Amino acid sequence: MFPTLTAAQVARIAGHGRVRRVAQGDVLVEPGEQTVRCFVVTEGQVEIVRPAGAAEDRMAVLRPGQFTGEVNMLSGRRGFARIRATAPGAVIEVDREVLLTLVQTDSDLGEILMRAFLLRRVELIARGLGDVVVVGSSHSPGTLRIREFLTRNGHPYASLDLDRDASVQDLLDRFEIGVADVPVVICRGTVVLRNPTNQQIADCLGFNEAIDRSHARDVVVVGAGLAGLAAAVYGASEGLDVLVLESTAPGGQAGASSRIENYLGFPTGNSGQELAARAYNQAEKWGAQLMVGNDTKRLTCDRKPYAIELEDGSRVPARALIIATGAEYRRLSIANLARFEGTGVYYAATFMESQLCSGDEVVVVGGGNSAGQAAVFLAQSARRVHMLVRSGLADTMSRYLIRRIEDHPAIAVHVRTEIVGLEGEHHLERVRWRDNQLGRVETHDIRHVFSMTGAVPSTRWLQSCVALDARGFIKTGADLAPEDLAAAHWPLARPPYLLETSLPGVFAVGDVRSGSVKRAAAAVGEGSIAIAAVHQVLHD
Ligand SMILES: Cc1cc2nc3c(=O)[nH]c(=O)nc-3n(C[C@H](O)[C@H](O)[C@H](O)COP(=O)(O)OP(=O)(O)OC[C@H]3O[C@@H](n4cnc5c(N)ncnc54)[C@H](O)[C@@H]3O)c2cc1C
Repeated sequence: MFPTLTAAQVARIAGHGRVRRVAQGDVLVEPGEQTVRCFVVTEGQVEIVRPAGAAEDRMAVLRPGQFTGEVNMLSGRRGFARIRATAPGAVIEVDREVLLTLVQTDSDLGEILMRAFLLRRVELIARGLGDVVVVGSSHSPGTLRIREFLTRNGHPYASLDLDRDASVQDLLDRFEIGVADVPVVICRGTVVLRNPTNQQIADCLGFNEAIDRSHARDVVVVGAGLAGLAAAVYGASEGLDVLVLESTAPGGQAGASSRIENYLGFPTGNSGQELAARAYNQAEKWGAQLMVGNDTKRLTCDRKPYAIELEDGSRVPARALIIATGAEYRRLSIANLARFEGTGVYYAATFMESQLCSGDEVVVVGGGNSAGQAAVFLAQSARRVHMLVRSGLADTMSRYLIRRIEDHPAIAVHVRTEIVGLEGEHHLERVRWRDNQLGRVETHDIRHVFSMTGAVPSTRWLQSCVALDARGFIKTGADLAPEDLAAAHWPLARPPYLLETSLPGVFAVGDVRSGSVKRAAAAVGEGSIAIAAVHQVLHD
């Protein structure tokens, strides 16, 4: 986490910064400041501390050759710590933008800096040392949503559970918070948000404040699943000015996956969340910017540059656009479903959800790859997993998953069976399902249902800007029939490029695209291919 640079490496950095003399006690950075510069110690000593009430926790002491900074250095978001000289000496001060260029161009320094930044962030997350406290209950859907939002955005936070920690009441009293207000987010020790939206949390923590929304980007990518992140990495590394707009957090469906085992290069598998987090850091390293917690609401497509309207009302202009909004899980058609979403009904099977149902019986609904993967993963910690499948396991399910499901003693597959009822007071307590072969309805005391029943495309925000297929997925390239192009008033002599929609300069990649294969590698591949066509469009 705290490597010491060689004299030659320090000299290379010095060429990009300025020397600053410091006296004992000089504060270089205060907690909560936007991250705009990094310091390399050349003489004396610098400490990194976190304010803890009236006192301070010392996190590290840096000596000559060591440097400040963590992942916020890439995004420009606010820092968490105070940095102070503890002895007279000198530091090299490097502006963030200059440091980013150094990371991109000096591979030796880039590797050392990136590794240290990432390891420091991992440590902050592991120790819950952020600027946020989430006060809630594991039985509340709002609490789960907020924890997921922070986790998937890689933001460290401390969590207090009302059901487990009696001292939490003191904290609530101090901020005059009633039980009806939870979940509560205490942001930077001062602002108290009662059951906030993701956007309110993003605003309070300043997630997006370093991003300029006014200038027209070379390419705006909507959606930060694997397809969108791949487009960002390839686009930014090839010199394009890239902005990614994401309604929640990076990762998309992959972020909901416990373990992807067929992605090339990871023979022992990789959690989708980990894969997405690495891709996110990689995109930022190359200078792509990512705005999170802000839904894209509308595309203005009648003039160029195109403009993308966000939930908060702002408009982002774009010379080219990549749509990577993927797909969302279909919701079970049960009248009182909404009551149990987050309190017993889940759409993701990651470590976080598995902790909630450890030792319990669970239901997984669906017969495709994602349901199979969830069943196998949950069977490691749950007492028993019931897979409810409307017909049988899908033909598209990978053979390795089918074998694991069949061989696993804790997994029971119920074919031609569907959920017909959910019951419970504050949390799901019972599930009713019907065996359609026997016409028999059974009720089971089961408190957790994982719904993984296929996906619908996230294309509502596009209104009639691009041609869609009958199921709402976006048509691209050769799939666009002459009638589609005529209806869309395609204005060019050339036909649409591969992955280009019926609107010139607008591309669709990944699961949102009509005919896509719904695989992680395909999403990544399409994201990268689209960038080649974006270069062509910008050149044209
Ligand atoms: C549980 C699970 C397990 C899986 N396992 C595997 C596997 O083992 N192997 C494999 O190859 N594939 C697997 N897949 C499939 C694979 O994850 C997907 O094909 C791939 O991740 C799709 O990526 P995407 O970027 O196209 O879309 P998505 O992942 O759906 O990402 C779309 C993103 O766009 C955002 N978005 C949507 N609408 C808006 C809007 N209006 N404004 C802003 N942002 C928006 C969403 O929040 C999301 O982050 C699995 C999928 C799931 C769900």
